[in-house]
Amino acid sequence: MKKEFLDELASFGIDMVWTPFECQFYGFDVTPLPKETSWVFRGTTPDAVLRPKNTEEVARVMDFANKHKIPVCPRGGGTSGYYQSVPRNKGIVIETLALNNIGELDEKEGVISVSGGVIWSQLEWELKKKGWTLKTYPTSYKSSTVAGWIQTEGLGVGSLAFGSIKKLIKEIEVVLPSGEVVWVPNEGLVETKSGNLKFEDFIKSEGMMGIITSVKLEVRRLPESIATYLLKFKDKNDFALASSRLANISSAYFIEFVNGSYMDLLAQSGHHTPKHLKEEVFAVIRLEGGKSDVEKGDKEIAALLAEYPEIARLPQEEAEEEYSYRLKYFRIKNAYSSVTPADLSVPLSNLGQYLDKVSHFRFEFAYKGEILTKEQCGLMFFYVLANELSLVRFMSAAPYQMEFILSAMKMGGSPNGGIGLLNTPYVFGLRTQSEREAFIQKKETFDQNWIMNPGKWTDPPFFLRPSIYFSGMKLLEPVCWLVGGIVGRW
Ligand SMILES: Cc1cc2nc3c(=O)[nH]c(=O)nc-3n(C[C@H](O)[C@H](O)[C@H](O)COP(=O)(O)OP(=O)(O)OC[C@H]3O[C@@H](n4cnc5c(N)ncnc54)[C@H](O)[C@@H]3O)c2cc1C
Repeated sequence: MKKEFLDELASFGIDMVWTPFECQFYGFDVTPLPKETSWVFRGTTPDAVLRPKNTEEVARVMDFANKHKIPVCPRGGGTSGYYQSVPRNKGIVIETLALNNIGELDEKEGVISVSGGVIWSQLEWELKKKGWTLKTYPTSYKSSTVAGWIQTEGLGVGSLAFGSIKKLIKEIEVVLPSGEVVWVPNEGLVETKSGNLKFEDFIKSEGMMGIITSVKLEVRRLPESIATYLLKFKDKNDFALASSRLANISSAYFIEFVNGSYMDLLAQSGHHTPKHLKEEVFAVIRLEGGKSDVEKGDKEIAALLAEYPEIARLPQEEAEEEYSYRLKYFRIKNAYSSVTPADLSVPLSNLGQYLDKVSHFRFEFAYKGEILTKEQCGLMFFYVLANELSLVRFMSAAPYQMEFILSAMKMGGSPNGGIGLLNTPYVFGLRTQSEREAFIQKKETFDQNWIMNPGKWTDPPFFLRPSIYFSGMKLLEPVCWLVGGIVGRW
């Protein structure tokens, strides 16, 4: 960016850093990549990072950037992991963490107004003081922001009971690329200077349509009753058979499952685990709600256990312990330099078939999943142990990821966690052609200078185009088998 632009930005009096040293930390996210890939991902270090404190400051930066055609990349906690919040063409990063106001709680409506950069755990802390709590949150809740999750429209803890975050939002305030500020209700159209917009235009838009500065979010009173179970299944088939029934248990709030191989990784990382065999599956089930609902759920679980005596219920303390670890996603990292998850979802109805298919891959694998909705969808994390300190070892993990994801897509699933930059090869599994075309058309209308988060799936680098990427991965596959064999981790 030209020096005169930096000087002008600095004159706004908004918190800003622009030294290369400070900016370099915004040139990546939570996903570790080997340093050799930096030649591919050039332009990720921004010229300046601004931390506006209110909507007016955001609007001022956007107006300036639009006038001078400077790219703007919004960033919350930077936890999305597919380079969604990493610039592609330098420019400005707007870090939203100073947009951290928690407004009044409307107890009658059960709605709270918060700024877009509020961290989930901070909001939960404040709500709990008043006897209230969140309906849903991502497991990254200690560092991710409210608006960041809206932008990837994720599912997380509590989605099983309350659905996706999209359903829980009443209204958002957005600063458009032109600097215009609008309030967009969950339903209906809103008039702007460039045309009409609706809520869906922002959900899942990954920072490419505007900056969300405020959110009116549904919350709930602390539940009257809770119960936590840890069940052990003989193998994946038994678990898959029971999974839909588990998802439909009254007051089921959260269900997470892991296999015995995952428990092995935990043990190697120094964590306590229940006694287990590799092929067993463990599921932690949390019920939350009114007293009678939770009692109903208790009875349904008792009936399931009576019907299938091979399902074992583990002690209460172990169940509580496992539930408390739901937010410590990368506990197994203690033992490994890096963990590259293949992050995907499959319909619950195909879970057994899917697990069967991937169990024929030539290696043993560890997984952790969450039953995220009653609509029979499952989210699976397959842990691929890579090592970003060695390019060969790192790249040798990539084809495994591809196989896991493509197999899921063939069974009605998709990659998870949004598209950003790194999931671009799978874009056709996440957006239909007409959705992609409609989005690009909207963006061209409302972001004529294409300043909002450019260079992601809408205009990706050459090597991430699906045909190029998949051909490259196919060529890499033999190396992958070889290195996988030598390393002997599978
Ligand atoms: C350990 C771990 C656990 C996770 N668990 C879950 C989970 O349970 N469920 C789930 O769905 N995801 C999960 N994720 C992924 C990620 O944490 C979520 O997508 C999270 O909500 C991203 O929030 P963030 O504030 O970090 O956003 P960022 O990563 O900073 O940004 C995400 C996207 O939103 C845009 N953006 C950010 N703020 C704004 C804003 N104010 N206005 C407009 N655009 C904006 C960015 O440009 C980017 O495109 C997990 C990640 C990790 C590392």
